[in-house]
Amino acid sequence: MKEACHRGLQRGLMGGLAALIVASLWWVWHWQLTSETREALSHAESRLALYSSSLEGALQRFTYLPGLMARQPLVRNALEGDGASLEERVNVHLARVAERSGAEAIYLMDTRGETLAASNYDSPQNFIGHRYHYRPYFIEAMRGRQGEFFAVGSTTGRPGYFVSAPVYASDDARRIVGALAVKVSLESLQEDWRQADEKVFLTDANGIVILSSRPAWRFRRLGSLDSGALATIRSQRQFIGNPLAPLGHRLADGSLLIGSAGIGERFFTQANPQGTLGWTMHYLVPVRPLYVSARNAVLAGIAVWMTLVLLGLWLRERQQRLRLRLREASIMREANERLETRVAERTRELESAQAELVQAGKLAALGTMAAGIAHELNQPLAGIRTYAASGARLLERGRQEAAADNFQRIQTLSDRLATLIRQLKLFARKGGAREPVDLLARLDFVLELLGDRLSRQNIALHLDLPSEEARPVWVAGDDIRLEQLLTNLLRNALDALREVASPSLEIRVAVHDETVVLTVIDNGPGIDAQTLKHLFDPFYTTKRVGDGLGLGLFISYGIVQDLGGRIHADNRPASQGSGACFRVELPGLQGKARVRPTREETQT
Ligand code: ADP
Repeated sequence: MKEACHRGLQRGLMGGLAALIVASLWWVWHWQLTSETREALSHAESRLALYSSSLEGALQRFTYLPGLMARQPLVRNALEGDGASLEERVNVHLARVAERSGAEAIYLMDTRGETLAASNYDSPQNFIGHRYHYRPYFIEAMRGRQGEFFAVGSTTGRPGYFVSAPVYASDDARRIVGALAVKVSLESLQEDWRQADEKVFLTDANGIVILSSRPAWRFRRLGSLDSGALATIRSQRQFIGNPLAPLGHRLADGSLLIGSAGIGERFFTQANPQGTLGWTMHYLVPVRPLYVSARNAVLAGIAVWMTLVLLGLWLRERQQRLRLRLREASIMREANERLETRVAERTRELESAQAELVQAGKLAALGTMAAGIAHELNQPLAGIRTYAASGARLLERGRQEAAADNFQRIQTLSDRLATLIRQLKLFARKGGAREPVDLLARLDFVLELLGDRLSRQNIALHLDLPSEEARPVWVAGDDIRLEQLLTNLLRNALDALREVASPSLEIRVAVHDETVVLTVIDNGPGIDAQTLKHLFDPFYTTKRVGDGLGLGLFISYGIVQDLGGRIHADNRPASQGSGACFRVELPGLQGKARVRPTREETQT
């Protein structure tokens, strides 16, 4: 449920993001197109103003020329007189003025429109003899007005702007005797536009392109042309036989499509009406570059969005990986915790099993001990009973000495029983005090007790003890138990050295950190593998009956355990000869011991 909700939310977010991307890209497209168009149109406006003024300037230069020339006597005389020599002079004059003013041609017509003199008199396409009575500029001049007209020259085939003025008779200022016309070529203007690589054209009042930066657009019409206007154009032979095909058509957004749909070019147009003849100057802004620029902006926007989306995806992926890692870590932690709990449970189970085992072991040990004690007590008791019974019979028979011997034996057996009981009592003393005891003092004491045996057995004693400064060597325990431990170990060694030729006993005491290590090494027969296994068992002995009870090492083990130490028995390495080695580690009390008087000090 939660998952489905999350997925739904995610889908909603993706949808929102997609909508945002589309909206932002649309906005970028629109903004770029609008601002580029605005900029292009304002540029167009300024260019248009420039071209308009240059056209006006070019035309104005010639506006007054026909009127001025029409008043010249030479021109008038040429129309009034009829001498061929005069016409020749006029031709030369017109040619000179044309050359100076930059006009393409200047020519003089009589009232029928026939050209009498022309500046281009010496060219093959000269105007002389041609009639231009149908041209509006002639008609206007005949009406006493200045005429203006744009047309394709009917003689030369070259288009031009024609401006004319009436020529009045020299004796009658109201009688028109002819007309003077100036033809101005606008080709150089057109050439300028083309070289500037701009799309500019000029239309006349009928919307026909009369000048254009692209030659192919010339004499095409912009918009429709009604039949009356067409008839007028035909009658005036304005564009001679040109078909005046349409240039293009307006689209719904006001742009102009030039050429056929699909392969044509679209332009935004900026128009500026001229002062002359209802002309209009047009400046075209190609639409395609505007769209290309808008498309580039959108592509840039897409690139930005793609980068953002990829960045977002990367971040999301990273976050998911991080979350996964955290989840893995938490799973691991949980698994660990579970494992630890199980380990703790197992440990508890093991501890309780161990406790049960210990308990069982204790019971078994108690059984063994009880059997051993029963056996050990039984033998001397049986002996005592036998000796007592035979002693009584010996006394009855009056055999005093033999009876005394029996009593002696009974005493020996009682001593043995007393020893056994003393050992058991010592064992029962377990868990005594733990106070600082100087191990070396206890060792001195025990050696003194055993001094007699040592000298009797001729034993070489080697002591390896800490230096005087390092003494006393404190261990935690009590005097009795430590003496018992030392006595047991040393007695066993002395027993083992009984049959040895040159017996030697080595006793080492060393302090390692917090541990005091006591080592007792003899050069006796050593301990066989079987004995090593049962060394610390109660009542285990290899000695003859009466020599050992098998409790010495058992009690020593108990004492060492009680004092928190360890005892280990082994044979000396074979390379050093035979012999046993007992190593006892006891917790030391170096630096912690309070100074207390030793037992000897108390005694003295
Ligand atoms: P007991 O001395 O009464 O026999 P212990 O528990 O002291 O009882 O010793 C058990 C046995 O360990 C001994 O009977 C003996 O076989 C063996 N043992 C102890 N110390 C030595 C030693 N230094 N060298 C050889 N055997 C030893």
